[in-house]
Formats: sequence, structure tokens, C-alpha cells
Amino acid sequence: MAYDRLLLFNRREFVTMIGTSAAAFSLAAGEPSRALAATQVSPTLSLPPLPYAQNALAPYISENTISFHYGKHHQAYVKNTIDKITGSELEKASLEEIIKITAKNSTLSAVFNNAAQVFNHTFYWNSMKPGGGGEPKGKIGKMINESFGNYSAFVTAFSNAAATQFGSGWAWLVLENDSLKVVKTSNADTPVTTQAKPLIAIDVWEHAYYLDYQNRRADYIKAFVEKLINWDFAEKNLLA
Ligand code: MN
Repeated sequence: MAYDRLLLFNRREFVTMIGTSAAAFSLAAGEPSRALAATQVSPTLSLPPLPYAQNALAPYISENTISFHYGKHHQAYVKNTIDKITGSELEKASLEEIIKITAKNSTLSAVFNNAAQVFNHTFYWNSMKPGGGGEPKGKIGKMINESFGNYSAFVTAFSNAAATQFGSGWAWLVLENDSLKVVKTSNADTPVTTQAKPLIAIDVWEHAYYLDYQNRRADYIKAFVEKLINWDFAEKNLLA
């Protein structure tokens, strides 16, 4: 899949385990040792670079928002995931594997929540670009017309999903059974655990918009749709 490239892990490039075998520790047997975690770096996870400068989406999303959202929130999800998998069997799994495995096991929900948020945020950054938004052309534009009737109906469906997600979560444009759909997910939930292929994501956790829009989530959604959506990314995902 196209977004494999975004996923943060490149076993060959990334790092080194310091210390000895982690095999003694297993998530199945409980939380990995903090002391052990502190001495190791996951071979599979790191914070990916932003695909643009931190001020590139202003004025729609400010540098201040991105510095916190990417530099603190996303970074923390990466660190927490690494801390929680280090020394466990999951250490060698890909991010998507970690998400799928932990989604099925409620005792691993803390790992799931952090790992899924790593995926979701990387996907979100790539779902935007400076000068994006508006009606797409290409195969994605054609499929939007086929699936929703027209672009305006897509905008309504996507904006409604993002606006009505109660509390923290996400809205997504996905491909499922050869048709495009809009879905919303709560908290860290992600289409990665479903049959749907994600094409575009908007983060509607308050941390995504509160510094710029305060409680005006609808204004943030409107800016995302009209000025930021990276349709090239959606098209690439669609064709992958
Ligand atoms: Mn977020």
C-alpha cells in the first residue's frame, strides 16, 4: 500500500538494540520492564518527518498548532508505543501489525491507542498540503462523483462526519468494495483494523484545532476541505 512509505519503520535503517536479548519479556506476560525499555530503541518505530514546514499550512493551521500537535502529541504517541513494545514480541512487528494485533486484545489497549495514533497522525499530515483542498480531478474526482453524486455531496458528508464525531476522534474518506465512503472513528480507532482502505483523514481531537479555532470545529473542517486536502495523496492511496 502507498502509505507503507509513511509508516515509520524501516527495520534496516533503524537502530540498534542496546543491551541483551529482550526475549524474556513478553506483552502477553504483562507490561515490559521500564528499566529495559529505557535502554533500548525500537528497531521499527520513529517519528516521521512532516511532509512540509511547520508554518506551511498557515493561516488555516498555524505553526503553533503544528509545533504542539506534531512535536508534542505525535511525538508522544511514538515514544509511548516504543516504550510499551520494547522487550515484547511486538517489537519486531510493523506498525500496522501492531495495530491489528492489539486491537483484538483489550489488555493491550494502551499499546493499541498509541500505535493507532501514530498511524492516524502520519496519515493526517499527509492528508494535507499547502494550496490543497477544493474539487479534485483525476480518478479520485471521478469516484467522488460516482460514490456521492457530486463533489458538493461529498463535502456535506465529510463535513458532517467530522462535525458530529462526539468528543475526540477522526473522520475519513475510505475505499470499500470499490466505492468511496465517509466514516468516523472515536479516539484512536482507525480503518486499519477494517476492510476499508483509508484515503484522507481529518483529526477532530480538540488539540488539532483549539489554538487556532477554539470551539469552532466547523470552521476548521471548512478550512481543511477547502484549503488543505491533499488530493494527490488520496489518489495515490486509491491507486495503490
Ligand atoms: Mn491529534
